Amino acid sequence: CGVFGVVGVSSAANFTALGLHALQHRGQEAGGIVVHDPEQGFNTVRRFGYVRDNFTQQDVMDMLPGPIGIGHVRYSTSGSKGATAIRDVQPFFGEFAMGGAAIAHNGNITNADSLRRELIERGSIFQSSSDSECIIHLMARSLQRNIPERMKDALRRVEGAFSVVAMTRTKLIGVRDPLGVRPLVLGKVGDGWVLSSETCALDIIGAEFIREVEPGEMVVISEKDGIVSHRPFEAKKPRFCIFEHVYFSRPDSILGGQSVYSTRENIGRELAKEAPVDADLVCPVPDSGTPAAIGYSLESGIPYAMGIIRNQYMGRTFIEPSESIRNMGVRLKLNVNRALVRGKRIILVDDSVVRGTTSHKIKEMILEAGAAEVHFRIASPPTAWPCFYGVDTPQREKLLAATMSTEEMREHLGVDSLKFISLDGLYRAVGEAKGRDPASPQYCDACFSGDYPVEPSDQIHKGFQL
Ligand code: SF4
Ligand code: MG
Repeated sequence: CGVFGVVGVSSAANFTALGLHALQHRGQEAGGIVVHDPEQGFNTVRRFGYVRDNFTQQDVMDMLPGPIGIGHVRYSTSGSKGATAIRDVQPFFGEFAMGGAAIAHNGNITNADSLRRELIERGSIFQSSSDSECIIHLMARSLQRNIPERMKDALRRVEGAFSVVAMTRTKLIGVRDPLGVRPLVLGKVGDGWVLSSETCALDIIGAEFIREVEPGEMVVISEKDGIVSHRPFEAKKPRFCIFEHVYFSRPDSILGGQSVYSTRENIGRELAKEAPVDADLVCPVPDSGTPAAIGYSLESGIPYAMGIIRNQYMGRTFIEPSESIRNMGVRLKLNVNRALVRGKRIILVDDSVVRGTTSHKIKEMILEAGAAEVHFRIASPPTAWPCFYGVDTPQREKLLAATMSTEEMREHLGVDSLKFISLDGLYRAVGEAKGRDPASPQYCDACFSGDYPVEPSDQIHKGFQL
């Protein structure tokens, strides 16, 4: 998901809509905005579909006046599986002692089931099936005398990954979990302040990047006091999601001081070193494989070409929750450039193989178009474990790499060769010259390694085996 917030501007809703539009790649099912206006109080609009279709209409924007607001773009990682219900669309808003608050959450709470059970037993009235709603109820129950303190109380009970943007009537609040699994950055626009999942949403509104919210940090921002930084949690060594670098973030964003684009190009270069092959063309599976394919081509000297053309009117396949649509989605979204690939030995570069749907369909299409050989090169290690921190990987059984070796996958996909970047190679590409430190890994890489930095306790209750 993507989160955004702004305070101290004339129309918070306009800025938020633009910011969410730039974060649309992080969630395409639904989006919502909450604002506060001194006269009208809190207002919210939450809708299915793209930001550009909902938050451009004058009648919608007229409902959202005020100088402070937050927003969220959603793709479902918890709560009602499959199709999202409108009740699960964020931000969530509630009134309680010390005033109301709204929150938008990116990540996944790993102890949400047990928190929810406990809260319901003690009288909380839930409005959604989302894990994120727990935070609001925990805040409402806190005995602290102001909302930032209540939020600290709440988040100290929450386990898992969270980058949260929240607002009171006058304050914008940003928090990252102690491991800093999901991103969150701070920017300045005119006299106002911005919080966003990624820097690309600062660019769209002409905001200046100030810094990242640090892992374990809470920033409380108001027009009156500016930024006040808090440290509500016990300090831990950060474990940022390495998959943000591989796939999730936009290539024009900066993560941890590094350009996502150049990291992906480095991944492609590493792949070319680790898994060279003689071929005629390097082609990306667009768009997610594009920067890595460029890197592979630069390193290997094999020409880069667009052997697969993407229909720009389709969203991200993976993020489409229903399996049948995802299957068809590949053809709706990608087509082979027949004239180019005929008779050629093609290296196809994609970011990841999850269920194998994309690679399987593409191999069929490209062989049908007359390619002489197909070599898959994947910009991440085999995805053998589900993510419980906010990326919607399927159950373990559905992950191709959970049940098959790389050679079995190659056979299953029916390609001439299949190679994944090594975990160390990936770490080198993100700037860790010595690779992964096995004693104390620098990133979260659980979907590749099975090394979960936070125990997924709800999942373990449901029978998941580490
Ligand atoms: Fe990111 Fe994978 Fe960790 Fe999930 S499990 S947070 S996708 S690295
Ligand atoms: Mg892709």
